[in-house]
Amino acid sequence: MRTAAKPSTKATTARGSRSGDAAGDASAAVTGATVGAILRVLRRAARGWNAPVLTLMAAEKHDPFLTLIGCILSLRTKDETTAVAAPRLFARARTPAEMLALTAREIEELIFPVGFYRTKARVILGICRDLIDKFEGRVPDEIETLTTLKGVGRKTANLVVTESFRKPGICVDTHVHRISNRWGLVTTKTPDQTERALRAALPRRYWIEYNSLVVAFGQTICHPVSPWCSRCPVARHCPRRGVTHSR
Ligand code: SF4
Repeated sequence: MRTAAKPSTKATTARGSRSGDAAGDASAAVTGATVGAILRVLRRAARGWNAPVLTLMAAEKHDPFLTLIGCILSLRTKDETTAVAAPRLFARARTPAEMLALTAREIEELIFPVGFYRTKARVILGICRDLIDKFEGRVPDEIETLTTLKGVGRKTANLVVTESFRKPGICVDTHVHRISNRWGLVTTKTPDQTERALRAALPRRYWIEYNSLVVAFGQTICHPVSPWCSRCPVARHCPRRGVTHSR
């Protein structure tokens, strides 16, 4: 099991340092025209970070069903817990039909202690029933169709289409919402608003990788409380909107 590493002073540059990164105006909001410079820096820095667990799962499996169920397990659950529970469940069931051969109680025991494990066991069975009844057992590759499945929201649907089908989408979780606002790339109150705003502001070529880069960055440096601004490799671009405490 891998957990997010502490930021290394070697791998990152201090706020104001000029090495390795094109200079930006840290007081100005990040825009669609300037976000590319940030993502280039994060792409390089990310080699030393741990990838978000769902990206790892999708990269290893390339299986939309496993990505979909893994994402359901991960909601309101720590990555470390999902990383243990998901393989335990997938060792018993890797298709909708195999999942339906399990009882809700068996699924509960396999996925415990993910958040809301009792509810999620029933949601997973409902999704599997719908996949078989309405979609011939296949996971749809369209966001709007995926969100017709009970328990599948836009975050999950976007993750499935981007990670498993490599189709354009922007998966917005708490890290993407927070950091996009700190950068001033969007000014929003909720993840759904952020997804809509990013669809307008973020050039399409960055959509697929945006989630995994920003989530890893959020787990490693740009923490929810007291981000590591002094070690941040993109500090020169960041207006730090809403940041009141930092290290
Ligand atoms: S808030 Fe701090 S850690 Fe986050 S991107 Fe801006 S400078 Fe970097």
